[in-house]
This record gives sequence, structure tokens and C-alpha cells, in this order.
Amino acid sequence: MKINLEDITDDGLHLSFDGTQDLLAKALAEVPPSEGVVIDPAIKGDLDLIKTGDNFALTGVIHAVMRLHCARCVKEFTTRTKVEMDLVVRQRTPETRPDDDALQTEASEILVEGPEVDLAEIVYQEILLEVPMQPLCSESCPGLCPLCGALKGSDECKCPGETAADPRWEALARLRQKMPP
Ligand SMILES: [Zn+2]
Ligand SMILES: [Zn+2]
Repeated sequence: MKINLEDITDDGLHLSFDGTQDLLAKALAEVPPSEGVVIDPAIKGDLDLIKTGDNFALTGVIHAVMRLHCARCVKEFTTRTKVEMDLVVRQRTPETRPDDDALQTEASEILVEGPEVDLAEIVYQEILLEVPMQPLCSESCPGLCPLCGALKGSDECKCPGETAADPRWEALARLRQKMPP
């Protein structure tokens, strides 16, 4: 999805994605997501690229689908993510001072070489920021029973004391057992 910034008129560029094209395929192949994370190359949403003085404003909303593994029960699950994009695309010019490179680390600004910009790459980077560090199939996922390996509180787990308790209370319960009466 290469765009030449020099082609952008005062009307700006509007793009719509209906989820039928694998727009992220190339970006995904070049920089695969971390292990256990699958991102659907097809995205839905809208993007606007508008010239703002010397820079360009890239705004819009992207809906992405990803498959993750639950950090508690290791089950694979599918989740939809809404990515709100509000970025400034700045072209590196011969006048760009070397210390301006630091600006690239600022999430809201993207420094590009030359007039060409790959929007798929930018969208992909923004989606990666939305991948949770501790994915959960559901907020209430009880996790696996340490004794039998089945889902805690499920029919398969008959272990005494391994009810689907809130894991946050477990440490407290253990502490109480140790305390003298
Ligand atoms: Zn889970
Ligand atoms: Zn069990």
C-alpha cells in the first residue's frame, strides 16, 4: 500500500478498507508478530491522509482481527481490535537535523525517507501496539488447575479446593492457612 506523498492534493487522500484484501500480507511477512500471535492480513476501516503544511496528518479507525493465546488457560481465541490512528507523517528532508531522529520514537510522529510511504507498514505497527502483553480469553478466565491441568472449576477438574476462585485471592487464602488460629 505504497503512497507517494507528492501525489496528495489539497483534498487529501481518503482510503476505505472492506476486509476483502490482504493488505497487511507483505508487512506481516517482513516482520512477523511474536510467537503465538496471528494477525489477520485483512483489515477494515478508513484512513485519511491530509496535507498539513510541510507534514501530513494520518487519521482514521482500523479494525483488525487477531488470534492470541490466553495467558491463563493457553486456549487460542480470536479478538477484534479497534485502532484509532492519529499520526503525523513527516518527510525527512536534507535540512532534517540528526537529532530529529529522536522524534521517530514518539508514537505520534512518523518520519519517512523520500516521498513514498507504505501505509500498510504504519497500520501494522499501530496494530502491534494493541497486542496485549497478557492476553486473556475472558477477564474471568479461571486458568488451569495446577493439579490436573484441566480448566479450574470445569467438569473435568474434580480436585478439592480447586474452585474457580479469583486468582487474586489465592495468595491471601494461602497466607491465612499459615497463620496460627
Ligand atoms: Zn483463558
Ligand atoms: Zn483439577
